[in-house]
Amino acid sequence: MTARTLAQLAAGLAARKYSSAELTQAALARVQGAQPRLNALISITAESAQAAAAVADERLAAGKAGPLTGIPMIHKDIFCTAGVLTTCGSRMLSNFVSPYDATVVARLKQAGMVMVGKANMDEFAMGSSNETSFYGPVKNPWDETRVPGGSSGGSAAAVAARLASLATATDTGGSIRQPAALCGVTGLKPTYGRVSRYGMIAFASSLDQAGVITVSAEDAALTLQAMAGFDPRDSTSVDAPVPDYRAALDAPLTGMKIGILKEFFGEGLASEVERPVREALATLVKLGAVVKEVSLPSLPLSVPTYYVVAPAECSSNLARFDGVRYGHRCAEPRDLRDLYTRSRAEGFGAEVKRRIMTGTYVLSAGYYDAYAIKAQKVRAVITDEFRRAFQDVDLLLAPTAPTVAFGLGDKTSDPITMYLNDIYTIGANLAGLPALSMPCGFAGGLPVGVQLIGPHFGEAKLLGAAHRYQQVTDWHLKTPAGFAEAFA
Ligand code: GLN
Repeated sequence: MTARTLAQLAAGLAARKYSSAELTQAALARVQGAQPRLNALISITAESAQAAAAVADERLAAGKAGPLTGIPMIHKDIFCTAGVLTTCGSRMLSNFVSPYDATVVARLKQAGMVMVGKANMDEFAMGSSNETSFYGPVKNPWDETRVPGGSSGGSAAAVAARLASLATATDTGGSIRQPAALCGVTGLKPTYGRVSRYGMIAFASSLDQAGVITVSAEDAALTLQAMAGFDPRDSTSVDAPVPDYRAALDAPLTGMKIGILKEFFGEGLASEVERPVREALATLVKLGAVVKEVSLPSLPLSVPTYYVVAPAECSSNLARFDGVRYGHRCAEPRDLRDLYTRSRAEGFGAEVKRRIMTGTYVLSAGYYDAYAIKAQKVRAVITDEFRRAFQDVDLLLAPTAPTVAFGLGDKTSDPITMYLNDIYTIGANLAGLPALSMPCGFAGGLPVGVQLIGPHFGEAKLLGAAHRYQQVTDWHLKTPAGFAEAFA
């Protein structure tokens, strides 16, 4: 058995096929074994995992377990974890131990999940290949000479290699969906405000959203259930009831209107990617969906818009890392100015500095109207085009990424080419929409993902369509050779 879905593991635990302690021991062995090859983790938390597993086993024995109790998982290292290193992939936070848990961490802990480690990621979630991490690049388990995507590359690689069946992730411009596509796993970015951002280190606050990377859409539903919902500690968290995502999975697709995004099927899309994406659409049609072509004329402006909005917000958010209260501090500062400048110069990597400089520039008095305000206007237009599209269709379908996983080092010298990786994913962030990527085939032995975008709070619809698709296909169950053997 190599599928290793959460649903299967929960059934195994309930049937006493194994204990949480055994499952956790096996997951730790797997994580440790894969680390030299993939570098998917920044921290491995063996001791606290064993303690959490013992508590979970007591809950299981007492009949007080939930559907996630006792199952090993991994958190992206952007989520604060009490007493455990939280680096955000940066030298700046390479010594930072959080005094508290992020809400996402607290909720999954409450559900009884067992954290076995923290996933590697692009520095401060800025990147599309995991190569900006201070801790070194993550390797794609399907081909270790290639990138896993980013910024949640560690999370995606870990789930693809079945080191755990769930890894949390975050998506500011595609960082859940793009690595999920490149690694052949399922990734869900919820609606902005659906999941609390409290304790999730901020990159671009109006775009950042926490979500999950899993094997299946069903697992994404199970975990979103535990994570979603109002949090008074996040002022952008929405106080709206959380539907029963599991129950909504089996809704039939008959008559569901799927819009295909015209702008995303043109130039720039590799034909080897387009083919499986169109096949996925045909499968959804067989299941009863109806297709409509949809045009969002301003969507091609999403990359330039994002690269004004995101750096602007990041330049403000990252101002807090000043070497004074926490994080990296330079040795023997001469005065306060020297402390600030040297701590930041040493603590941040090249991509983060590039973003801070761009952001500071677009926010400066002389350029604010030309860039920052203009970008906000375009963002409003894009959001409105999406809103109108959802008056006609239930979901939108597009590729997730323009190509399959590229080689390590191939794009590091050209930031613009790197930025274009997110051309199909950024729109959903600008508009705050939920979106999902799921495996739909292979090209040259590398996974291809298809993306579904839903209306605000349309997670149940998205997950339902994906679940139906995954019931008649098995792309999501494929595992990379060399990581295929079961771990329990
Ligand atoms: N790749 C995009 C960037 O570099 C998106 C990152 C993300 O979603 N965190 O900003």
